[in-house]
Amino acid sequence: MSAKKVKVRFAPSPTGDLHVGNIRTALFDWAYARHTGGTFLFRIEDTDTTRVTDEYINAAIDTLKWLGLQWDEGPEVGGPNGPYLQSQRLDIYAQWAQKFLDQKDAYYCYCSPDELEAVREEQRKANVAPGYNGHCRELTADQIAAFKAQGREGVVRMRMPEGSTTFVDEIRGEVTFDHKFVPDFVLVRADGSPLYTLAVAVDDILMGVTHVLRGEDLLSSTPRQIRVYQAMGVALEDYPVFAHLPFVMGQDNAKLSKRNGEVSIAWYREQGYLPEAICNYLALLGWSPGDDRENISMKELTELFTVEKVHSSPARFDMKKLEAINGDKIRALSVEDFAQWTIPFLKKAAIIEGTDAEIALVKQALPLIQERIVKLDEAPQLLKLLFVKEFAIDSEVVSKVNDEGAKSILKRAQSELEELSTWNHESIEAALRASLIEEMGLKPRIAFTALRIATTGSTISPPLFESMELLGKQACLARISLALSL
Ligand code: GLU
Repeated sequence: MSAKKVKVRFAPSPTGDLHVGNIRTALFDWAYARHTGGTFLFRIEDTDTTRVTDEYINAAIDTLKWLGLQWDEGPEVGGPNGPYLQSQRLDIYAQWAQKFLDQKDAYYCYCSPDELEAVREEQRKANVAPGYNGHCRELTADQIAAFKAQGREGVVRMRMPEGSTTFVDEIRGEVTFDHKFVPDFVLVRADGSPLYTLAVAVDDILMGVTHVLRGEDLLSSTPRQIRVYQAMGVALEDYPVFAHLPFVMGQDNAKLSKRNGEVSIAWYREQGYLPEAICNYLALLGWSPGDDRENISMKELTELFTVEKVHSSPARFDMKKLEAINGDKIRALSVEDFAQWTIPFLKKAAIIEGTDAEIALVKQALPLIQERIVKLDEAPQLLKLLFVKEFAIDSEVVSKVNDEGAKSILKRAQSELEELSTWNHESIEAALRASLIEEMGLKPRIAFTALRIATTGSTISPPLFESMELLGKQACLARISLALSL
């Protein structure tokens, strides 16, 4: 890659929440900028005002921050090439479009949508590549006046010369597009608004972008962007380097969709995935560090990331692997950090309000669940036993403590626990093993399931004796009495 100081951009069109594919691109852009000591630029491509909303723009900004992909130039932080919202740069695109018209690189086209559709229909029948047929390329002043008199508003179209465009893609190698398949394309709509191809190309040049790393779906738009650079008079050595990242496929090898894994990052966040886990996992989608390690920190990613190690074949999304990585990252958290991440989930589930006493108890209990959860949203279910105001046994399991066998277990446990002077998980376990397992000869699974349901209300809980310790003697005995009274 070139020796110029690197500037990479992430340029989403937020027509919804950012999803896996967008974020994989953002992550690679960021990692490349950090690896090379370059600049990470963030630009919002919001010229399609019918589809991009303020809400989605703000969500995109928030998502990038949450993931820790801080940008050096862009919304909120500013920079020398702003504004970074394309909707605030419309006059710039209009000036360039006018220049292209003046240079005869572009022309006004007055064909109506129906006429264009009729052309496409003809092309389908004749089995030729679809696309604009050049109808308005050489209109005379009289013809233009006649169209205007009919009340037609023209679009601005770029003239594609005959021939082909070849460029070197850093991932795919040399790529050539025959212009037979790249018809004259629209730069400006009839209402004066610019299209993506115009805005993206103008901005990449004016903002000094050196590297365009983006999804493979945009590969075919590259010859049009190069055509815009040519019309702008950009020297070949100032074209950005292109690198198109491989597609991400779903588990079933079909294109990633809601059904097979493609959901917004907001969804993963709500489920309790840690940003570092998402970034670690997405980093491995189409890139590898060169060995088989799967646990990669953000710091390692910036040290190791090179475009050479990006694969050219599609990557496959694997939810199970993401879960496993999330579990690893959760286990690696300090109790303090784990608490910071978990408390909002407990509050949202109305398990705690957030008092000091509650937080202190949460911190005592968290080590009990840290080994066993893979997502933060599992925490409320596991910890609620410590905070419920009106304890009740889950209705699906209540029958399991409501028979003679279970009652005899609970009675014996009750009398053993009443006698206990030291209340900690070791003493509880020792007393219950001696009485229920050794003396009564019960199987541990039978004895402790009954006790688990009686004291935690569920068959799923953190380790039983530790839970009982945190719950306290009084609460445990009260719950056992309640179960016995059923
Ligand atoms: N704004 C375009 C999109 O979200 C991407 C622009 C680019 O990376 O070239 O699809």
